[in-house]
Amino acid sequence: MAIMTFAGTALKNLFSKPVTTKYPAVPAEYKERTRGHIEISIDDCISCGMCVRSCPCGTLSVDKIKGTWSINRFDCIACGFCVEKCPKKCLSVVAGYQEPGAEKGSVTYTKSPEVLAEEARKREEMAKKAAEAKAAAAAKAAAAAAEKKD
Ligand code: SF4
Ligand code: SF4
Repeated sequence: MAIMTFAGTALKNLFSKPVTTKYPAVPAEYKERTRGHIEISIDDCISCGMCVRSCPCGTLSVDKIKGTWSINRFDCIACGFCVEKCPKKCLSVVAGYQEPGAEKGSVTYTKSPEVLAEEARKREEMAKKAAEAKAAAAAKAAAAAAEKKD
């Protein structure tokens, strides 16, 4: 009985296409939901750090001033938590794996100069408004103190 099963399987395999592909001569085809690696649309990032805090592997870092987002792809397990938590939806899990490398290292993405300039302008504006509010509060307090003296 076992020999019949074996013969059946052998015959079936003889006349069917091989399940293997000629990779790397033929590029790999990834399924739609393959968890390959994380990509970022860096100009949409607001440097909030939610992805950094949600990452179980501690593989992400964000620098708000420099406008950078970094990932150590060798430590990433493609769990997708960062993608779920990103409020701007600028992260995605895409098919295709990272290239092999001899050394562990981070890949850093930097925002475009236009976005960096706009963010710097907004920061300056906010700092100016905060300074004005502080000065106004100080003046108000001084006036109140002077009134008390009289
Ligand atoms: S996919 Fe998971 S492990 Fe990779 S960076 Fe995002 S949270 Fe971290
Ligand atoms: S969660 Fe999204 S918006 Fe926030 S720092 Fe990460 S990538 Fe940028």
